[in-house]
Amino acid sequence: MRFHTDFNVDFKILDANVSKLKNIAPKNNILFMVKANAYGHGLVPVVKFAVENLGITEFGCATSGEAKILRQALPKHKFEIYVFSDVQIEFKNCSELYLNQRILPVLCSIEDLTYVLHNNDFRHFPLCLKFNTGMNRLGIEVKDQQKVVDLLKKYNRKEIYHLFSHFSSTLLSVKKQRSQLQYSRFIELKNNFKASGIEIQYSSMANSGAIEQEFALEETHIRPGLMLYGPSSLLDQSIVENPWNAQLVGYLKTYVLQTFEVTRGTPIGYGGTPAYDDGIVALLAIGYGDGIPTYFQGAHLKHYNFEGRVLGRVNMDMMQLFFPKSQKCTIKSGDSFCLWNHDPAIFRELCKQLNVIPYELMCQLMTRISRTYHY
Ligand SMILES: *Cc1c(COP(=O)(O)O)cnc(C)c1O
Repeated sequence: MRFHTDFNVDFKILDANVSKLKNIAPKNNILFMVKANAYGHGLVPVVKFAVENLGITEFGCATSGEAKILRQALPKHKFEIYVFSDVQIEFKNCSELYLNQRILPVLCSIEDLTYVLHNNDFRHFPLCLKFNTGMNRLGIEVKDQQKVVDLLKKYNRKEIYHLFSHFSSTLLSVKKQRSQLQYSRFIELKNNFKASGIEIQYSSMANSGAIEQEFALEETHIRPGLMLYGPSSLLDQSIVENPWNAQLVGYLKTYVLQTFEVTRGTPIGYGGTPAYDDGIVALLAIGYGDGIPTYFQGAHLKHYNFEGRVLGRVNMDMMQLFFPKSQKCTIKSGDSFCLWNHDPAIFRELCKQLNVIPYELMCQLMTRISRTYHY
């Protein structure tokens, strides 16, 4: 664990972001996506805060392991957990976990549905089904809807608790054909179920990109992930009337281990990358062992008004930042260095520069970086 290299999570900002979200989607229940360690922010603290202070009672994980951690850490808190991808219902330890801890597996195949229906222990358990409406990843095929209806009837089940599907392309404008087509298929699925006498209690389709574009908000639930942590998930070209403008919940800071002067061409670090020019090098106490990958090499990073550039390879434990002499940069050992702060524009620029999606940069922050929580 590091000291002074930390990811500062400000729950007041999360609170503000949830309020902003409720302005956009006042009628929808929030199913808050907290997979991948709550997008790097810390699974248990985020859920605990959201239940205790934000009135959010439904959460989405990717794996049963994540759900198990939540139930174990917060046994007295009342909330619902869905497991979306790594369901593994056929394994005894997983199915027992779902049954005993009230964790809702989202069934994505006829095989998994058959398993649940056939298993008597699940006979009163809520059925959550995910359909493939065009994402072509996980999900029951639309063409198999009648099979699903027949199976439900065979086992005397009259209700789907929560019907899901997932958009493939909401980072682009939803006016494009793909999202429209997916959503119309979803509506058709719902109508067909109803016509077949199968009730649907809840339904959801909108992720951040859809919510930002106020799309698919007719469903009972929305499933925001990224936007609640701050960043917009839309690409620049997907202009909307009221852009999502929220602060980042977390800011990432490290500190300067040492500085030293170099002359142009001095070989620096592993592989001996020549210094860009005469100047100073600041060694930062963060590296790929903390979640700052090697593709940061060459990136421009600001220290107040000084513009540094990552020089040479990012190491496991540190990285070198170069400032040309002409800048007369005052950086010195012990200084704090902020990789990104609460300003969404800075983070967006960084992601663009690195050609990485915001999701990835957040999720890969490793456990060696301590999370500091501000309430
Ligand atoms: C991750 C995820 C979301 C949230 O996506 P964002 O783009 O982060 O809002 C919604 N639904 C499912 C099924 C997911 O896996």
